[in-house]
Amino acid sequence: MPIEETDVVVVGAGQAGVAMSEHLGAHGIPHIVVERDRIAERWRTARWDSLVANGPAWHDRFPGMEFPDVAHDAFAPKEKVADYFVAYAEKIGAPVRCGVEVTSVRRHDGHPGFRVETSQGDIDARYVVAATGPFQRPVFPPIVPDGAVPVQIHSNAYHKPEQLPEGAVLVVGAGSSGVQIADELRRSGRQVFLSVGPHDRPPRQYRGRDFCWWLGVLGLWDAQTPPQGAEHVTIAVSGARGGHTVDFRALAATGIELVGMTASYADGVLHFAPDLAANIAAGDAQYLELLRAADEYVARNGLDLPVEPEAHLLGADPSCVTDPRLELDLAEAGVTSIVWATGYATDYSWLDVDTFDEKGRPIQRRGISSEPGVYFLGLPWQSRRGSSFIWGVWHDARYVADHIATQRGYLVNGGIDRPGAGSAARQG
Ligand SMILES: Cc1cc2nc3c(=O)[nH]c(=O)nc-3n(C[C@H](O)[C@H](O)[C@H](O)COP(=O)(O)OP(=O)(O)OC[C@H]3O[C@@H](n4cnc5c(N)ncnc54)[C@H](O)[C@@H]3O)c2cc1C
Repeated sequence: MPIEETDVVVVGAGQAGVAMSEHLGAHGIPHIVVERDRIAERWRTARWDSLVANGPAWHDRFPGMEFPDVAHDAFAPKEKVADYFVAYAEKIGAPVRCGVEVTSVRRHDGHPGFRVETSQGDIDARYVVAATGPFQRPVFPPIVPDGAVPVQIHSNAYHKPEQLPEGAVLVVGAGSSGVQIADELRRSGRQVFLSVGPHDRPPRQYRGRDFCWWLGVLGLWDAQTPPQGAEHVTIAVSGARGGHTVDFRALAATGIELVGMTASYADGVLHFAPDLAANIAAGDAQYLELLRAADEYVARNGLDLPVEPEAHLLGADPSCVTDPRLELDLAEAGVTSIVWATGYATDYSWLDVDTFDEKGRPIQRRGISSEPGVYFLGLPWQSRRGSSFIWGVWHDARYVADHIATQRGYLVNGGIDRPGAGSAARQG
């Protein structure tokens, strides 16, 4: 059976795959984007129902198109984010094949390029871009055994309060997902415990500008390495209800009981680390530091932005912080559900090439892997802090496309046959 040929196979049609297609198209490089579900599927089905984008519409988008029906400063509901990428793919004529799963990618033996096996036949490609996203596999620590509470789910399976059985809920993780889910559950009338680890919590707005703007002008989105060498810094922000600063004191005032990091479980009792106050204090320090840097920016540039002294007032710590609970008897507290908002891991089980370290992490620099011809896109901190976010991945995709174009130029100028240039289809 003849094998289809192209220059580049892009795996995944989330925002990363769509951005990649735009830049490859701009170079005139033949490619196919293979998506096992629908374009931007994760925004539709792997997020909770009420989610809106964490950044305003002017920021959380690609340069080439505005949101058609979301106000400049508003936060796009998740379905509109997905619709945006579908419309974007259409606008650029991205050659996306939906409902096709890549099951394996292997380097050819004795000739260049890769054999890409899919659920709908094989493709030979000179280059492969893994654009399957930073959040492929939900992970949570194996702390609470199955059956200890009626329901344990990851945040990617949480959709709305009514899906959980009656009773109290423990939400583990205080990034954007954890705080927003805990807030929604509390507003629905649930008793909620929120397990708070280390986090950043920038102000939603300061001196009339959104935090996305501040991170931009202060160069923090472009930071190339995580602060203090941390691999991932959870940013607790929310666009919900028009957008607001995540304030753990305010969450506690609504009745949410804050606890420290979830540490262990024994005989029906959960144990929390005695780190709650320290985690809150570190988040406060980072928050205040951003205000300080913003004030400095305003002064240095002589900007006329309204002062906001009240933003510097944090208020007293609630009793759950000053006198934290270190144990929770799940049955006694009526906890029937645990929502683990504890993040994701990558899954490149389909990518059978030698470019992973001993922990399974891609060996790459700005998306260019140690295996010539294989590229990654959408990784956290791939080139900068913004890399796994909507606006950032677009810039990384351009860099990767430029690299492919350069490499391809050598092959073309060297007269080396390549897929997609009219060569006869190989026989499989
Ligand atoms: C809860 C949550 C909220 C977020 N909110 C924001 C926000 O407001 N603003 C922002 O900028 N970022 C946000 N992000 C971060 C980021 O923008 C999203 O995670 C985004 O979905 C990442 O896009 P991606 O294209 O890199 O990956 P994904 O959206 O995960 O897309 C990867 C695609 O690859 C496909 N795929 C995987 N394996 C295969 C295979 N073997 N064969 C074929 N297809 C495959 C998947 O089906 C998927 O469609 C958020 C993330 C989360 C988890």
